[in-house]
Amino acid sequence: MNNLRKHDEKTSDNVQEQGIDDLPTARTNESATAGDGGKRTDYLQWSEYFMAVAFLSAQRSKDPSSQVGACIVNNENKIVGIGYNGMPNGCSDDLLPWRRSAPDRLDTKYPYVCHAEMNAILNKNCADVKGCSLYVALFPCNECAKLIIQSGICEVIYMSDKYATSLESVASRRLLSMAGVHLRKFVPQCRHIVIDFESINSSAGVEFDPKTSHGSAVTNVETVDPPEIVEQTG
Ligand SMILES: [Zn+2]
Repeated sequence: MNNLRKHDEKTSDNVQEQGIDDLPTARTNESATAGDGGKRTDYLQWSEYFMAVAFLSAQRSKDPSSQVGACIVNNENKIVGIGYNGMPNGCSDDLLPWRRSAPDRLDTKYPYVCHAEMNAILNKNCADVKGCSLYVALFPCNECAKLIIQSGICEVIYMSDKYATSLESVASRRLLSMAGVHLRKFVPQCRHIVIDFESINSSAGVEFDPKTSHGSAVTNVETVDPPEIVEQTG
């Protein structure tokens, strides 16, 4: 058997207690098929796929301290919106500040930056996102919670809740819970997902194998801020 713990997504709560250090470091392509002629079995689960899309999107962010991505999915498992944190359209991200603190708050990023959730909602490619799920790297702030609720998103799946005690997170949780938005902490089945552009040239096709990742583009599921800052940035 391969070293990836497999389970049905509907039973993911069964592994909520599993620590991140207990997880495999990455998918490997060994034993990736059920047998001769069988289908590949080591494919990404839907939830891992959507969270990985959110994390990949975050790599587009210009924010030097916090890269957050979000991915909205409808009830047919189709992606209908993607976003990452950035300055508003037409507002130069070279001219506006990216710092987190300054004597004048107008000289910080906070009054200007659009969060990933806002951009994902506004980037939607359908009439509305009612009944959709939102995958996001960081638990939404209170401002994004308002947008999530008003847009009709009914579920938020988040990777990190590291600012749980901040005013923004407390208010957000209060609003989302009051509005009946289901909140779920994402439990990954693997620590890393490696994107290796060169893998398409191998005989096995696209693989998720860290051993072949040297010199290639790599993303992982740990691109979050250091924990010392309390202020919500996601
Ligand atoms: Zn926000």
